[in-house]
Amino acid sequence: MKNWLQKLMSGRNGMDQLSNFMVITSVILILASILTSYTILNTAGLVVLGLSYFRMFSRDINKRYMENQKFLKSYQPIKNKVFRLKNKAKNSKDFKYFKCPNCEQELRVPRKKGRVNIKCPKCKTSFVRRT
Ligand SMILES: [Zn+2]
Repeated sequence: MKNWLQKLMSGRNGMDQLSNFMVITSVILILASILTSYTILNTAGLVVLGLSYFRMFSRDINKRYMENQKFLKSYQPIKNKVFRLKNKAKNSKDFKYFKCPNCEQELRVPRKKGRVNIKCPKCKTSFVRRT
């Protein structure tokens, strides 16, 4: 069984992050189509699933690799942003967040300290805020 699979997949792209993401997207689309009865979502889900299989079985590994790199490059900032938002929500009880008026750098200040003078570590601008 394992041998058969190895033979089948040899020289092919196999699973990468982009294909993984596509499979998850297609499952979400198909589930959404069941819940909302929009058949277009089901069709879209099957198309995405089909494309992800195409990528897995593709022999043009270089091209698939480039696609995956492109995907990772555009996906990473989203992942970072989600991570930051999650962190912010978790800390919002103890910290207040301000944006530097000069460079827009986000700054975290402990709550309940009254009026504080905040100095931006990036551009050294000082500004006063109530926490
Ligand atoms: Zn600044």
